[in-house]
Amino acid sequence: MPTASNTAVFWGEVLGEVQRQVSRNQFETWFAQTACQEFDKERVIVAVPNTFYSAWLTKQYMPVLEDAVSHAAGQELKIEFLTDESLKTEEQEDLGREITTPQAGPIESVPTRRPPVAAAGSSNLKKHLNPDYTFDNFIVGASNRMGHAAALAVIDDPGKVYNPLFIHGGLGLGKTHLLQGISHELLARRPGIRMEYVPCEQFINEFITALEKNQINEFRERYRELDVLMIDDIHFLANKDHTQEEFFHTFNCLYNEQKQIILSSDSPPRDIPTLEERLVSRFKWGLVCEVEPPVFEMRMGIIRKRCNRENMDLADDVADLLAGTLKGSIRELEGAVTRLAGYSRIMKEPVTVEVTRRVLSDLLGSAKRRITMDDIIEIVTDRFGVRLSDLQSKKRFHSITLPRQICMFLARKHTPLSLTEIGGYFGGRDHSTVLYADDKVAKRIKTDPELRDTVEDLSRMLKI
Ligand code: ADP
Ligand code: MG
Repeated sequence: MPTASNTAVFWGEVLGEVQRQVSRNQFETWFAQTACQEFDKERVIVAVPNTFYSAWLTKQYMPVLEDAVSHAAGQELKIEFLTDESLKTEEQEDLGREITTPQAGPIESVPTRRPPVAAAGSSNLKKHLNPDYTFDNFIVGASNRMGHAAALAVIDDPGKVYNPLFIHGGLGLGKTHLLQGISHELLARRPGIRMEYVPCEQFINEFITALEKNQINEFRERYRELDVLMIDDIHFLANKDHTQEEFFHTFNCLYNEQKQIILSSDSPPRDIPTLEERLVSRFKWGLVCEVEPPVFEMRMGIIRKRCNRENMDLADDVADLLAGTLKGSIRELEGAVTRLAGYSRIMKEPVTVEVTRRVLSDLLGSAKRRITMDDIIEIVTDRFGVRLSDLQSKKRFHSITLPRQICMFLARKHTPLSLTEIGGYFGGRDHSTVLYADDKVAKRIKTDPELRDTVEDLSRMLKI
């Protein structure tokens, strides 16, 4: 039979575990005044200040509590609640009144105590928010209609309709624009909202820095007390085991509190290499939608919009040529218009089809034969007899690192992809790894004729 003192010890352990899973605010509001009445091999009786607490803990925190209890007890126990008025503090009496009066509205609108500073104007958000990435500047077409509609629904009712909202698609197709469009709109409509938009790489770096500086609690608090969290390019979590673990708890914490989570990725959850299964399944809880390459009319719309910005009149046949040839990324389409505008400003020459073909020969001339990362991966894995999953893994055998480094070298040479983008294809490796690989292969082919022949041969194959 457990004594009062080991009941307290047991409950202390449970609460310690809960604390790891929820924000400080949530802990103080919902757990700090709970106590363990008694426990045995089958059940634990948890004393709470009033019936609202038991209802809310059952509805929102049961999985967290069950986990913590089985962690502390070493086995699963049935959890039962008991109301103990003596647990009430003044503050909780207020909370209880607010919650239980009929006018207080539905349970979901219960105010939890907010930290005094609203994150709406957080420096991170300001730092990353591009003023051009608004919905006014966002052209909607068949390829992105679903993502756009989902974004609008989330803006109307954050945390309630699609949670998480997971948007995936290829590079330059408007994922970042969509996420930031949501930020602009929410800031305009709900000025006090606590919101964060953060590129995944920065989230990872902040986490590592917090660990190094022993500031993990501050880090957790910052991300777990938000109303809306957006993480761009979440596929960079691949191979970042510790950050995945941390993000898992942050996700649970926000999700339990019905806070909105919005994620973007270059691939659907299932295809993110080395992503833990529990995250894959959570990412699919809400709505997963894809943004696809734009259709012809959309490409025309994007060209016209860009021309307006650049103050340029583009002849119809030139616009047709661009829209008819550049079918991939919107970023590339915009870049093409910007280059033409630059050319006409400097040369003071009208932009004809002939001029366009000359100025954009790299884009248009070889548009059909543009070398992609998939081409590179295909010929390299074939030549070396390895699998893509090996290249994406953390394996460091020479038989794997060499083809991986050759892929990176060829990508630097033959594609316009950035270092980070290239790293993204290989399990989210960072830009310095790609730079190192590029340099290493470049140096080795100077001294290793066999390797030089192989790389030259692969380059030739890519160009066919
Ligand atoms: P991703 O994050 O998918 O790589 P971005 O959101 O960075 O792509 O978009 C690349 C460029 O294309 C940006 O300049 C963005 O403003 C523009 N863009 C993308 N989608 C649209 C759209 N539907 N309408 C207008 N511009 C768009
Ligand atoms: Mg992006």
